[in-house]
Amino acid sequence: MEVLLANEYGFCFGVKRAVEFVEDALGKGAPVRTLGPLIHNTQEMQRLECEGVSTVQDPAEVSKNEIAVIRAHGVTPQVQAELEKRAAQVVDATCPFVTRVQRLAEGAAKDGRHVVVVGSPDHPEMIGVVGYAPNNTFVVRDAEDVKNLPPLHAPLVVSQTTLKLKTFLEVAEAVRAKADAEPQVVNTICSATRDRQDAARALAGLVDAFYIIGGKHSSNSIKLLAVCQEQCANSFLIETQDEINPADLHDARRVGVTAGASTPNWLIDQVVTRLREIGNRSNGAGN
Ligand code: SF4
Repeated sequence: MEVLLANEYGFCFGVKRAVEFVEDALGKGAPVRTLGPLIHNTQEMQRLECEGVSTVQDPAEVSKNEIAVIRAHGVTPQVQAELEKRAAQVVDATCPFVTRVQRLAEGAAKDGRHVVVVGSPDHPEMIGVVGYAPNNTFVVRDAEDVKNLPPLHAPLVVSQTTLKLKTFLEVAEAVRAKADAEPQVVNTICSATRDRQDAARALAGLVDAFYIIGGKHSSNSIKLLAVCQEQCANSFLIETQDEINPADLHDARRVGVTAGASTPNWLIDQVVTRLREIGNRSNGAGN
């Protein structure tokens, strides 16, 4: 049985960087606190907890002898200032793609322009971005929401990094009708999610079974599963190698593997090793 990995899988650039920042911080000897969970992966969070990382929900929970880490979603300037006041050191692991959205919003607001950000108003990334331009920014989920906005002055249109392009373009079009000047439309969607889906799609038609490694409640992992199921009915979303049922691989000659952007390499390696063991056993049984 051959085990094939998708061309793009696992940690995205921003998550990998944030985990590396936390590991560097651990090397400094002080307790490390992340504001909100660093990543949405239970097993990786447990591993980091064992190494001495804990999660706080509020900057007020950080004390003077601790290192505070800002996760990839970023925070408002106010929260960052609060952390800097309280912690021994602040490590800013905001993904540079998110920083770009923050800076664009801040710049447009300084020029007295409106900012329309397409995304979920409650998402931490959006809360952080709004903090850079609090008086000028509107967060909208879709083109329908734009109908409720006031007239817009020379607007900038940007998006949450994980948004669908179609939604972004529809909002940009709707904003045009409300604006007193041609909007500045900057596509700030990150390709990490789409790249993983495209790579999974390319592999799904070539395999007899497909394992998607990621959180059962992660929307990205669920979407990856749906993409694989379109071409490979034998697709499974698993969190760890323990969930692999050898009976599902009875007739499989080729097995695909992919993982969501929050899944660490060590979990992926465990799954691949387990699949190879099962494959070797079934080869042996057939001899
Ligand atoms: S998905 Fe994209 S924007 Fe978000 S952390 Fe990963 S690389 Fe950065």
